[in-house]
Amino acid sequence: MAGAGMAGLCAAAEARARGADVAVLEKGDRVGGAMLLSSGVVWRHREFADFRAECPAGQPELQRLVYDRLDGDLAWLETLGAVATERDTGNPRTTGVRFDTRALTACLARAAGDVRLGEPLRDLPTGVPTILATGGFAASRALVREHVTPEADALLLRSTPWSEGDGLRLATAAGASPSAGMDEFYGRAMPAPPASIEEADFVRLAQLYARHATVTNVHGEQRSAATWSEIDVVQWIARQPGARALYRVEADALGARVRERTVADMVAAAERAGAPVHRDGDAVVVEVRAAITTTLGGVRVDARGRAAPGVWAAGADAGGVATGGYASGLAAALVLGRVAAADALAGGAAAA
Ligand SMILES: Cc1cc2nc3c(=O)[nH]c(=O)nc-3n(C[C@H](O)[C@H](O)[C@H](O)COP(=O)(O)OP(=O)(O)OC[C@H]3O[C@@H](n4cnc5c(N)ncnc54)[C@H](O)[C@@H]3O)c2cc1C
Repeated sequence: MAGAGMAGLCAAAEARARGADVAVLEKGDRVGGAMLLSSGVVWRHREFADFRAECPAGQPELQRLVYDRLDGDLAWLETLGAVATERDTGNPRTTGVRFDTRALTACLARAAGDVRLGEPLRDLPTGVPTILATGGFAASRALVREHVTPEADALLLRSTPWSEGDGLRLATAAGASPSAGMDEFYGRAMPAPPASIEEADFVRLAQLYARHATVTNVHGEQRSAATWSEIDVVQWIARQPGARALYRVEADALGARVRERTVADMVAAAERAGAPVHRDGDAVVVEVRAAITTTLGGVRVDARGRAAPGVWAAGADAGGVATGGYASGLAAALVLGRVAAADALAGGAAAA
């Protein structure tokens, strides 16, 4: 198993429960990957038709798998000791559970067993089934430039530094194909430099109010938010000069609520962090930068997580789930991680 984040730990926990002898190699110096930094909301669309409509270019069989299995897999997480902190996503179109990500990481690491920190998987072992769960390629500027945007150098990284496309490279070398949507990513608009943003600020400093703002690039060209997740706006900003945009909010929109915060709260957080914020009469203008959290394209897999002979991919390494839109990366990682482990063990082999 490569990667001790959401997909890798779920896969290892599943494999061990089935009696396998599993080693989880982890490139970073801690467990949990992006999962540990996340808001911990593991969700699906309430209606499958909405999933299809919002992510129209995704593989229907993968979307069906996530949709059908998620509720059972959420219950499984709780049997391992995961602590649910909310049972409502706050979005009427979706359903899911928010977990405390520290407790989630700890209980999954316990269930996964043999996790080896600071040991990246560099080559595929011969003759040993391998599940790739290295978290996609958001941290590789070269791959982001190749697939996502020529402005890769300006894009902020809102995740760990370790997901550099190792799974994609290894799977491709083994004969796997890329999924659809290699140019798509999940991310957020964040306060622009000189704002200082630490890992612990990734959730708190997100500027999630494009729908209440006039969004322009540095040339004054406008873009409006077409989705509730605002992922379309963030992907657009990522391709503008300097991956920069200006969010102008009129006074009457500052009180609007987005989840648990108001627009004014988010603006104030950006200002405190040191982002350029200007007043124009009663309006406020915040400079933001696109930040990449996870890539949405990756290795093409089937509904058993198979990528190539003897090789499975799960989590952000497996593309084709949210293509064309946005769906929960934690949910896809949980479901495909478990499915891949079960399939890898179907022949009774030990997994590495
Ligand atoms: C701030 C933030 C908020 C988020 N909020 C949410 C949310 O509320 N809901 C949601 O669904 N998603 C959310 N996400 C996204 C979610 O965290 C990811 O979609 C999910 O963690 C993907 O799981 P994964 O296992 O593919 O990757 P990760 O959890 O990142 O795990 C990948 C692991 O692989 C390791 N690795 C990389 N290369 C190698 C290698 N060669 N060998 C061994 N190990 C390797 C990495 O170090 C990492 O530990 C958020 C992410 C962030 C950063």
